[in-house]
Amino acid sequence: MSSQNPGCLGFLFRLFGGSESRLPDKLPYRIRDDFLSRAELSLYGVLRLAVGDQWVICPKVNLSDIFYVVGEEKQSWRNRIDRKHLDFLLCDAQTMQPVLGVELDDRSHARRDRQESDAFKDKVFRAAGLPLVRIQARANYSVTEISTLLRSAMSPTSQAANPPAPTPKTGTQAPSPGAPICPKCGVAMVVRASRKDGSRFYGCPNFPRCRHTAPLVRP
Ligand SMILES: [Zn+2]
Repeated sequence: MSSQNPGCLGFLFRLFGGSESRLPDKLPYRIRDDFLSRAELSLYGVLRLAVGDQWVICPKVNLSDIFYVVGEEKQSWRNRIDRKHLDFLLCDAQTMQPVLGVELDDRSHARRDRQESDAFKDKVFRAAGLPLVRIQARANYSVTEISTLLRSAMSPTSQAANPPAPTPKTGTQAPSPGAPICPKCGVAMVVRASRKDGSRFYGCPNFPRCRHTAPLVRP
């Protein structure tokens, strides 16, 4: 709002304020006591028992930390996810590659606005190929039941969710006529050179968000 049309106050702020030296001694930030709600904390405890050391549980992850946008109108699609959070993201403990989203559905999810938001979230996960499970809030959970639910949600795409082989450090991008299309992003790949041994290969221009590579075929 004010950033669109800063007006007089915005002008004065830029003129006299905004520098860190003018900040008050004690800033008005305090630690929240409800980082996780009671219901979230309860599910978190069960998730910890269910996943063991295999995965790491990240609570409250912004969707724009998980997903990136491909194709046209990037900013508009980014705006649709950048204030949305996932309750819990499970990542591979070694690579921290996301493997599964977990949403806790409490009573607020029965509201119409929440239902629309949930439906959108489901579509985002489906489009990106990251499985998402919804767990109904309960007073008690069975660890075995939750563990089975997580593993079965992961299994159909577990291959795709596996991290790709490590990509060599890349050099500068070069225009690549006749380059293959990245199957993940749908954009033409670029020729890159390995910093290690100078060998050339096709890499996705969205690197490091997308690490898809293809061998360079010589004529
Ligand atoms: Zn790509």
